[in-house]
Amino acid sequence: MTNKVRVIGAGLAGSEAAIYLSNKGYVVDLIEMRPKYTTGAHTSDYPAELVCSNSLGSSDILSASGLLKQEALILGSTLFKIAQKCAVPSGNSLSVDRFGFCKEIKEIIDSKPNINIINEKYEKIDPDIPTIIATGPLSAKELAQDIKENFGEENFHFFDAIAPIIEKDTINFDKAFWASRWDKGSADFINCPMNKEEYENFYNILINAQKAPLHDFEAQFFEGCMPIEVMASRGIDTLRFGPMKPVGLFDKRIKTEFKKNQFYAVVQLRQDDKLANLYNLVGFQTNLKWGEQKRLIQAIPGLENASIIRYGVMHANTFINSPKILNKSLNTKKYENIFFAGQLTGVEGYCESISTGLFAAINLDRFLKQKELITLDNTTMLGALIDYITFENHKKLQPINSNWGIVKELNEDKKKLKKDKNLKNQLRSSRALEEIKRIKEIIEE
Ligand SMILES: Cc1cc2nc3c(=O)[nH]c(=O)nc-3n(C[C@H](O)[C@H](O)[C@H](O)COP(=O)(O)OP(=O)(O)OC[C@H]3O[C@@H](n4cnc5c(N)ncnc54)[C@H](O)[C@@H]3O)c2cc1C
Repeated sequence: MTNKVRVIGAGLAGSEAAIYLSNKGYVVDLIEMRPKYTTGAHTSDYPAELVCSNSLGSSDILSASGLLKQEALILGSTLFKIAQKCAVPSGNSLSVDRFGFCKEIKEIIDSKPNINIINEKYEKIDPDIPTIIATGPLSAKELAQDIKENFGEENFHFFDAIAPIIEKDTINFDKAFWASRWDKGSADFINCPMNKEEYENFYNILINAQKAPLHDFEAQFFEGCMPIEVMASRGIDTLRFGPMKPVGLFDKRIKTEFKKNQFYAVVQLRQDDKLANLYNLVGFQTNLKWGEQKRLIQAIPGLENASIIRYGVMHANTFINSPKILNKSLNTKKYENIFFAGQLTGVEGYCESISTGLFAAINLDRFLKQKELITLDNTTMLGALIDYITFENHKKLQPINSNWGIVKELNEDKKKLKKDKNLKNQLRSSRALEEIKRIKEIIEE
């Protein structure tokens, strides 16, 4: 049995995979092109950098994202454990101090004598070496070209945008207030409220603002990460029903009936670092020119003097034609010792990338031990995601987040479950976790 493996890309999927394989005793060459070459979105040379939001989504196991995290934790995820350790207050979701998070992961990787970090750009797949390719949506173009040549399939593209971050000390708290929606959990969010006139002024600046030029090939936006200017172009009220919805947000300094909306629109800001100095604008991913972003942000009541420490940008994401290239165990149909993981496979999101990184590593370990590879059924969230990206009848694969729509229906009475969504999620969630525990036992045999 070979003892040497390669993991390409020390991002979310690659870091999770490398740590898992090193814990299994392999000598892992972790090949990462940063800091020699940049992706355009990463700003540090740390592994597992979160390129945009610091939120890993809901931590409630009755939600799709919460269930996925729990499944990965049961299967042995290191990164989700670190995320819990680095959590910052954000109501019912798991958000992390972004620098603390990747610093902890770097410390773990550095502490492993059997992980060799090689700062090179990987350009050619070597089918003789067991490998996990986890180079992410911003994979270097030389490798993207080699994937195309090796597997005879075109790669696909879509756009993803980053939201700005500002300094808390520059917010005017005479206007902004602390609250969580419907007072659920502690008041972790900063809220900047608007009346109708202020919203219309903001909207006019937004729809007339200049955008940064986009890349030359055709790509679409991902619905779950739509730039605000694209949302705004769909109608004046789209943002008020999206990231700027005012419902359930109350400034307790003003007396109103709890059920009535106090405001016409609200911009929310989420804590971004452990020290609570930095806050990101929730749902404000954008591709506007930087001067325009400044003008727009400073038109938000409470943010008139906001100091912007990171501006939004947009990037074209690459993903492979997984239905043609991959098996459900995440190795390729062409070379059984070459695996793909992370966003490059067509899953979308931090949690999805971490979880597929872990799953590819579990199967690479099994492959090398000549054990049967694991496939998950679509009663589990991770299984449903992999099922989706490898479904051969897709006309064209579209990137996919964890969501209940891809999970197998329950056998229980449909009418009863339609009325009781909570019960439905409880049943689906416990069915998934039972299955994952069963798989975990197989892995440990
Ligand atoms: C602009 C943008 C914003 C996003 N915002 C969010 C968000 O807010 N929330 C969310 O859940 N998801 C977001 N995503 C999607 C996705 O979750 C992240 O991109 C996530 O980091 C993907 O994890 P990964 O491990 O697949 O890739 P990455 O974390 O990007 O890791 C890939 C690594 O491979 C390296 N690499 C690339 N090519 C090579 C090569 N040839 N040789 C060696 N190394 C290489 C890169 O430097 C990088 O370190 C965003 C994506 C983009 C592009």
